[in-house]
Amino acid sequence: MPEPLSTESTAFRSALEVIRAVEPRVADAIGQEVADQREMLKLIASENYASPATLLAMGNWFSDKYAEGTVGRRFYAGCRNVDTVEALAAEHARELFGAEHAYAQPHSGIDANLVAFWAVLAQRVEAPALQNAGVRNVNDLSEADWAELRRAFGNQRMLGMSLDAGGHLTHGFRPNISGKMFDQRSYGTDPATGLIDYEALRVSAREFKPLIIVAGYSAYPRLVNFRIMREIADEVGATLMVDMAHFAGLVAGKVLTGDFDPVSHAQIVTTTTHKSLRGPRGGMVLCDSSLADQVDRGCPMVLGGPLPHVMAAKAVALAEARRPEFREYAQAVVDNARALAEGLMRRGAKLVTGGTDNHLNLIDVSSYGLTGRQAESALLESGIVTNRNAIPADPNGAWYTSGIRIGTPALTTRGLGATEMDEIAGLIDRVLATTEAGTTAKGAPSKAQHILDPKIADEISHRATDLLTGFPLYPEIDLG
Ligand code: PLP
Repeated sequence: MPEPLSTESTAFRSALEVIRAVEPRVADAIGQEVADQREMLKLIASENYASPATLLAMGNWFSDKYAEGTVGRRFYAGCRNVDTVEALAAEHARELFGAEHAYAQPHSGIDANLVAFWAVLAQRVEAPALQNAGVRNVNDLSEADWAELRRAFGNQRMLGMSLDAGGHLTHGFRPNISGKMFDQRSYGTDPATGLIDYEALRVSAREFKPLIIVAGYSAYPRLVNFRIMREIADEVGATLMVDMAHFAGLVAGKVLTGDFDPVSHAQIVTTTTHKSLRGPRGGMVLCDSSLADQVDRGCPMVLGGPLPHVMAAKAVALAEARRPEFREYAQAVVDNARALAEGLMRRGAKLVTGGTDNHLNLIDVSSYGLTGRQAESALLESGIVTNRNAIPADPNGAWYTSGIRIGTPALTTRGLGATEMDEIAGLIDRVLATTEAGTTAKGAPSKAQHILDPKIADEISHRATDLLTGFPLYPEIDLG
């Protein structure tokens, strides 16, 4: 007798069959995506694998519903079930993170940051336009007031972590609206240690007097002391906002506590739900009750109609993150990042800051004579998925870069541990040590091209796949 199919296998097989009947190429692409993910060593620090329950919570009738507004106060009729899932997502988030208020509507991390910026502006800015108009709130402004206010908003200041020290585009950089809304200044890291220099930050904050200090990062491998950040913010009258998009899972799993827990120190915290938190693609805002009303105006101020199907999946993923197993997972993510760091450094790799305290490592690949772009391509050919990233004072800029960022949230979800991390460190080192910088078609040195013996790439790729066979992705799902 063949083994009966698991519930998950039946669910996903049936879903693919239904899709295949309409557009087989989409069904094939979905099947291929999971096959690819099963075979690859995924070390992208911002990716993970959501649970079957989280994935399935997204594929349903909530997708058809408009629900502008907030729980119990919608601009559309018939939202009682959306109210249920949005309230559940917010409740789980408040309980999990110990936040006074949670807003589960942002469609992504960038959206969550925009909601937060507007909430702080609305709460804090006392522009002449506001006074002239005799209103206390930006929501009551006329068109003329808005024109004046835009000028006033343009003069507001934001102090965020510099991009090459690991900050994010949304922390006040030109290519993002935050860099246009705010007059931005960056804080960086100490060139000798690679660590945030809090005293330099304090001096800069005193001089610059920002409205908002943004803490949080995309590529900083160390802890951030949010108690000190709040102290600095209070001293200069700024609001402290923490973007914990990357490390929300470590906060949820209580690896980051005390001075390192953003929620107990910042007035407003934003996050994505799909990185270390292991939920669906999306964003969220947590805040003090003093900011709650403004945050809840995210839609329609900044966001379109909420995505109720994704909020349903957020509620499921947050419920999972409240389980004791999630704490073990979060600790294992950090232990694995450390094991990877040690394995790399033992083999001679140079890591920014000389190691890690969180879920990611940043390898300075210039010591291998490569740019980040060359290293990223060579690793991908060898079945190891990473992404290139600038390092502090990067001579190769943000496009070619000199760094490779590697993170452990995804492989830890598959169950890999310290022994496997050490072997992976060996595979990465072997690829980088045997890759050479290539040349352009005209024979000039190239920052993009690389040379790697295809036999070596193939051998490593096979080893990576073999290594993963002991740690099947979605072992409960057999797609046939
Ligand atoms: N904030 C940080 C710190 C991030 O690293 C990212 C994404 O990489 C974002 C925000 C944006 O998230 P999303 O891609 O969901 O908009």
